Amino acid sequence: MVASVNPLKQTRRLVVKVGSALLVDAKSGQLRRDWLTGLVADLAALRSMGTDVTLVSSGAIALGRRKLGLSRGLLKLEESQAAAAAGQIDLAAAYSNTFAEHKVPVAQILLTLSDTEERRRYLNARNTLSALFRMGAVPVINENDTVATEEIRFGDNDRLAARVAAMISADALVLLSDIDGLYESDPKQNPSAKKLSLVHAITSEIEGMAGTTGSDMASGGMFTKLAAARIALDAGCALAIADGRRANPIATLADVNDGTWFIGDETPQQARKRWINGTLKIEGVVRIDDGAVKALRHGKSLLPAGAIEVSGKFERGAPVAINGPDGREVARGLIAYDADDARRIAGKRSAEIEAELGYRGRAALIHRDDLSLTSRSETLPGRKESL
Ligand code: GLU
Repeated sequence: MVASVNPLKQTRRLVVKVGSALLVDAKSGQLRRDWLTGLVADLAALRSMGTDVTLVSSGAIALGRRKLGLSRGLLKLEESQAAAAAGQIDLAAAYSNTFAEHKVPVAQILLTLSDTEERRRYLNARNTLSALFRMGAVPVINENDTVATEEIRFGDNDRLAARVAAMISADALVLLSDIDGLYESDPKQNPSAKKLSLVHAITSEIEGMAGTTGSDMASGGMFTKLAAARIALDAGCALAIADGRRANPIATLADVNDGTWFIGDETPQQARKRWINGTLKIEGVVRIDDGAVKALRHGKSLLPAGAIEVSGKFERGAPVAINGPDGREVARGLIAYDADDARRIAGKRSAEIEAELGYRGRAALIHRDDLSLTSRSETLPGRKESL
């Protein structure tokens, strides 16, 4: 069944995840260059139309094990870490060279689970990725397998891709693999099983359909794909499980739309606002002047110049309340400085930050993307603090 909605048609910020089984030939352990060329052509075309494109690619371990002469079968942790280190450099080179044919710069980013969980590091990564998008580059991301040991790693790039999509407020994430969608029952056991075209929520019924579908090269089967879908939906991002085995997999998906889409009812912006304004526990307060209140209501960032007073003890990236001169909350946001530095630059112009702190910090005290205005009803006394 073909879905009537096709988020790929209107995506402005897209993440594509590529599994090892697609990129690396199972028998020879070699990169499948023709396939890669088609994928890169699709992504370069989207990039040239102004879509922010991010690629989360597996394949480092599969490539590296051949390079290091590691035999088939299960690798020990340090062996797979060594294989990842050896394979990643070739993987990155292949992407860099192939995108270069389209004059698209590629940037490599290796992340660990904690980079997407700790707010400070998460915000740094988010800022770097935003800068790369402005410069027209395509970030190529993989897990930093060298430093990630069993208990602190994603282990599968499905969830890593979903965390990345949430981190950058992507509106669509496509998981390309040798699984072409979610079926009502395992199509290997039941050839007449129906593929779902659209899912709105991960119910227990949906979970029951996941079964144990998977291929032996990839670490993520349907289970991790559903976990990824849950993360994506919570971030307002649509997710597709789609067939990656064909040439030009993204252009084909845009055309025939035959995968399974998971689509929730929020936009990434609404989800982020809900996260900032509803979920996080406030660690400090910034009181701002009338001019800054107006600027915020017009969708601007909060500059240090607009801050009158900073109270609380907090680290960079902490959620803070932003109150007007009368003490009423006007917004909440993630602050770009720790409490001491925020106090030092309050009331100063952005150009004075470096002289005051001795380092070149960010121009905004709270960037507009990290801000969420508090609606009038929420500013009434008695608003409950959530943990
Ligand atoms: N990070 C691993 C690699 O590049 C792959 C993880 C996965 O297959 O999802 O080889």
